[in-house]
Amino acid sequence: MSESVSGIETTDGRASAVQTEAGTVLPADLVVLGLGVRPNVALAREAGIPLGTSGGIAVDRRMRTQAEGVWSAGDCVESVHRLSGQRVVVALGTHANKQGRVAGINLGGGYATFPGVIGTAVTKVCDLEVARTGLSMAEADAAGFSYVTASVDSTTRAGYFPGAKPIRVKLLAERRTGRLLGAQVVGREGAAKRIDVFASAIWNEMSVDEVLSLDLSYAPPFAPVWDPVLIAARKAFEAVEAETSAAAASRQ
Ligand SMILES: Cc1cc2nc3c(=O)[nH]c(=O)nc-3n(C[C@H](O)[C@H](O)[C@H](O)COP(=O)(O)OP(=O)(O)OC[C@H]3O[C@@H](n4cnc5c(N)ncnc54)[C@H](O)[C@@H]3O)c2cc1C
Repeated sequence: MSESVSGIETTDGRASAVQTEAGTVLPADLVVLGLGVRPNVALAREAGIPLGTSGGIAVDRRMRTQAEGVWSAGDCVESVHRLSGQRVVVALGTHANKQGRVAGINLGGGYATFPGVIGTAVTKVCDLEVARTGLSMAEADAAGFSYVTASVDSTTRAGYFPGAKPIRVKLLAERRTGRLLGAQVVGREGAAKRIDVFASAIWNEMSVDEVLSLDLSYAPPFAPVWDPVLIAARKAFEAVEAETSAAAASRQ
């Protein structure tokens, strides 16, 4: 409804309604705030340390700021996105730890570089697992990629095995080359960590037809014989092939 939230009403200490600036009052049992994050760079700004285009502290690959003898790592710095090439602030402990290690090695007189990020993240809401890596459709559009998508529904274990739960996988693959650009996974127990296969594939610039041949593990308690990762890659490969054929036919 595109109205700004102005307040949250509470009853007996619990959220009961959301107020908007337009005067609307929306009754609610649960209020979820998805506000994003911004780096807290006040200290750096006051010290005259240059910020980058994304609003984070600008650092080179060794985590050096542009001020002599000042190094920076973690939520307040910007990183290079390995797919889009753009400078981004992605506030995650995974990056903060690796960047801190790189900064520490360099500060100690060694040599280390931070190779960039691809935006891999997982979370869990009650028993629902959600994961992503690479570019979303909006991010791929903004970066100028042309791509196809494929979504598949499968199960976390062999379908006949007790405890098998639904899992949905969505992939983005670059048009023509089939390079894997992004992956999203949602499902119950055992779903989210499958994102790490896709993260490894994206990191190594693999195409979806390379992913579909990966020698992944199988036993009924862990996966169907065709893991959802492989089924999704196969569907994405078919989408790339179909798009390439259609483009060739339209040129004739
Ligand atoms: C609720 C929550 C859940 C999260 N879950 C995950 C997760 O599951 N996976 C994941 O990868 N990431 C997760 N994150 C993100 C992760 O915690 C951060 O990316 C990571 O902690 C960033 O590390 P940092 O060292 O840059 O900053 P911080 O950990 O915030 O450390 C900065 C420190 O600097 C101190 N400080 C600030 N200003 C000053 C000052 N002027 N002088 C001296 N000290 C100062 C602060 O007190 C703080 O101790 C989560 C974050 C939150 C808030």
